[in-house]
Amino acid sequence: MGGSPAFSHPIHVGSPNVGDRRRFLARIEDMLDRRWLTNDGPFVRELEERIARFAGVKHCVAMCNGTVALEIAIRALNLSGEVICPAFTFIATAHALRWQEIKPVFCDINPDTHNLDPEEVEKCITKRTTGIVGVHLWGRPCEIEALESLAERKKLILMFDAAHAFGCSRRGRMIGGFGQAEVFSFHATKIFNTLEGGAVLTNNDEVAGKMKLMRNFGFAGYDCVTYLGMNGKMNEASAAMGLTLLESFGELVDTNNRNYAAYRDGLKDVPGIRLVEYDQSEKCNYQYVVAQVDGGHCPISRDILLDALHRENVVARRYFYPGCHNMEPYKSSGEYAGLSLPATDRVASEVLILPTGTAITPTDIAEVCGIIRTVVHHAGEVVARSVSLGNKGREA
Ligand SMILES: *Cc1c(COP(=O)(O)O)cnc(C)c1O
Repeated sequence: MGGSPAFSHPIHVGSPNVGDRRRFLARIEDMLDRRWLTNDGPFVRELEERIARFAGVKHCVAMCNGTVALEIAIRALNLSGEVICPAFTFIATAHALRWQEIKPVFCDINPDTHNLDPEEVEKCITKRTTGIVGVHLWGRPCEIEALESLAERKKLILMFDAAHAFGCSRRGRMIGGFGQAEVFSFHATKIFNTLEGGAVLTNNDEVAGKMKLMRNFGFAGYDCVTYLGMNGKMNEASAAMGLTLLESFGELVDTNNRNYAAYRDGLKDVPGIRLVEYDQSEKCNYQYVVAQVDGGHCPISRDILLDALHRENVVARRYFYPGCHNMEPYKSSGEYAGLSLPATDRVASEVLILPTGTAITPTDIAEVCGIIRTVVHHAGEVVARSVSLGNKGREA
């Protein structure tokens, strides 16, 4: 390769879906006419109702982003002390706990599912443990039943970071209704976005009521504050985006599914590279195309492939590398000294997220797959060159 990159403009992982522009702008006009921009406005209420119905859950409490939604859910559920969560997740899962002065106890994953391994979770339980935060990574649900029975047996609170799993199901039931609460992110990079935004879904009336107070400074009415709250409100422009995208959610999933199939076809027979699979008998959103580069069978490492793609303007990403336990403030904290998460470390060194969503065409995907094929097939040369560069580096 060399010379000009295959793509003249970068193609990115997480390029936002924007939906029907005219419908969005019409809603923005309505919002401006009403001069009701935030504070439990009509669009937010409508979005909450629609999402609750979509997920078959009693309450949807919309928030300004997924991280604040996690923090508010964690507080509303009275988590404290130690809470078990994976290290193979976006850093916000851990930070939301730490921000509440809770110790995130990092638990290893099952390397096949990339989700919490329930047997490992049990080993992490101490006298200080109050709960478990499962993450449905890539939109593939956790082993919910095993976590539920463990939580019940050990009297722990179970909640989920469902930031990846909007529109997904587990054994025919939509994600949103499991555990005490499930938290969604509607950040611009997610399949369903509200620019910035998030929500907590729960079937628990008391928890929902608490969260509504918490997201609005604890105001129970004019001049009446009944709770320690913060500002977690979703605004009307965000809700307008959400309502618009919800109307085309089926098409977004179809596009992702089509893209996923194009990658699967384009990458079949590339040695040592396989795509993380989704259970076709469940609802899936296919929002992540996750290639796993198997160190034992692929002639090159994930990182060499990543560099090669970036040189061609394909901005693939190493999601959740090197794991929360290898980031601050956890990494340097004595509390985590000697922590060993072998499955997390291996999977974090092997996954590569490829661009998908409505901004990417099947032609783009064929081109990306062509680059990957070429790079892997010329692996001998690439590896040899990087080894010689590495040696020069050491001699200097
Ligand atoms: C995106 C994401 C979040 C954070 O959501 P924001 O809306 O960006 O605050 C939390 N957890 C996971 C797993 C995520 O992917």
